[in-house]
Amino acid sequence: MTIAIQSDIPLKPYNTFGMAVTARHFCELRTLAQLPALLQSEAFRTGPVLWLGGGSNLLLTRDYPGLVVKVSLSGVHLLAEDADSVLVEAAAGENWHDFVRYSLTQGWFGLENLSLIPGTVGACPVQNIGAYGVEVKDLIDSVVCARLDADGEALTLGNADCRFAYRDSVFKHEAAGKLLVTAVRFRLGRRPHLKTAYGDIAGQLEKMGVNEPGPLDVSEAVIAIRRSKLPDPAQLGNAGSFFKNPIIDADQAERLLARFPALPHYPAGEGRVKLAAGWLIDQAGLKGYRDGDAAVHDRQALVLVNHGSASGDDMRRLAEKVIATVRERYGVELEPEPLVL
Ligand SMILES: Cc1cc2nc3c(=O)[nH]c(=O)nc-3n(C[C@H](O)[C@H](O)[C@H](O)COP(=O)(O)OP(=O)(O)OC[C@H]3O[C@@H](n4cnc5c(N)ncnc54)[C@H](O)[C@@H]3O)c2cc1C
Repeated sequence: MTIAIQSDIPLKPYNTFGMAVTARHFCELRTLAQLPALLQSEAFRTGPVLWLGGGSNLLLTRDYPGLVVKVSLSGVHLLAEDADSVLVEAAAGENWHDFVRYSLTQGWFGLENLSLIPGTVGACPVQNIGAYGVEVKDLIDSVVCARLDADGEALTLGNADCRFAYRDSVFKHEAAGKLLVTAVRFRLGRRPHLKTAYGDIAGQLEKMGVNEPGPLDVSEAVIAIRRSKLPDPAQLGNAGSFFKNPIIDADQAERLLARFPALPHYPAGEGRVKLAAGWLIDQAGLKGYRDGDAAVHDRQALVLVNHGSASGDDMRRLAEKVIATVRERYGVELEPEPLVL
């Protein structure tokens, strides 16, 4: 099977920051049968190659000099079921939120707190997406991949092989550029185990007049909270949280808490402490800070936004200013969450 590779394609519609850059080469992978032709193509072999889902965790600062492959593999299949759970496989190009909603309407539970996260199924294991007290690693059974250095041979990584951690996995390290995620297998429950203690889910359910919530209600509550707090990329370019919550030593946390007693902090295992990056940025006076069209969002300091015509370099300069300000004030190093290219 062949694959059409185009040249000099605008990437603005393919990244939620709305960066107006181009790809030297571009193609869309719709079926696995196209993979051999893709791997043999001149554009692939010359590289570099960027595997693209929804482009919602990327900051493209310049024209991409190689091949951008939009992963559009589709399909959702029930692989196995028993009295307690189902094993479901979703192809990498499926829209994440649509898959979450589909699973809930099928009576497959567990993903409700991860509603309305932009992007694709294939990217969900890459940074182990998380929200409202749930990380996707807790629902992933295994990840089906194609080996890019072995003619696309299939390789399935079990959950432990993925080495999931906070916003991290093997796909950001050893497997980056070597494995293409083609599908993800989820183990979902048949009985709800709702997690409503995080954030304002319980308060939102009350506001909605729901006394005995089910998973779809929790999904609706999460959607409502997210819509009220986070800018919609269709209206205001952004990539969600631009910084990870920093994890520091308990000693350093103790010293910081003596100076800033209100600093939100959470145990992060092994005597380490996770801080709320949004609070650090907000309290450093940067919430709503704007330099041209690049800005720190005025309702959520963790989110950097493009008010229209900010360039990738404008966004990067803003990110550097935030990092330097937080370092100076608290001695804490912030790390960007999106891939910056
Ligand atoms: C408004 C907004 C809110 C957000 N909220 C959250 C949140 O609550 N929690 C959270 O964790 N994230 C959040 N994000 C970040 C983002 O939505 C997730 O990281 C999402 O999983 C990215 O999916 P994507 O398909 O857009 O990936 P892309 O941005 O296209 O790619 C991200 C990375 O994954 C790689 N990749 C993509 N597809 C594949 C594949 N098939 N195989 C191998 N590598 C691949 C890419 O090369 C790149 O390195 C938010 C973003 C936005 C814009």
